[in-house]
Amino acid sequence: MEHEDDRRGLLLAEQERIAARVTKLERDIAALTSARRSSVDDDEHDPDGEPLSARWSLLAGLLESARDDARQAAEAVRRLDAGAYGVCVACGQPIPAGQLDVRPFRERCVACTP
Ligand SMILES: [Zn+2]
Repeated sequence: MEHEDDRRGLLLAEQERIAARVTKLERDIAALTSARRSSVDDDEHDPDGEPLSARWSLLAGLLESARDDARQAAEAVRRLDAGAYGVCVACGQPIPAGQLDVRPFRERCVACTP
């Protein structure tokens, strides 16, 4: 099961990377939120030129997608534990390794991906 161990290591490393991204974005948003609070009247006139509200929307979007990645990563690890990793949830066929290399958290084969 050496290959599966490799896969687990890869998934866990990726999961860790995603968790770090979520943490960083949460921190950035918290910092920005307090910056907005301290300059309520100046929301759209940030001295750096970029409106804080636009930056906040950007970060919130990134955080949402990072959390989604984290959810998929956790799900992939769970499937690996259950012995169901790499099997398409839609058609039940094994997902080609090449597709998993590109997207390790993929739960459907390319043919079943909407
Ligand atoms: Zn499929």
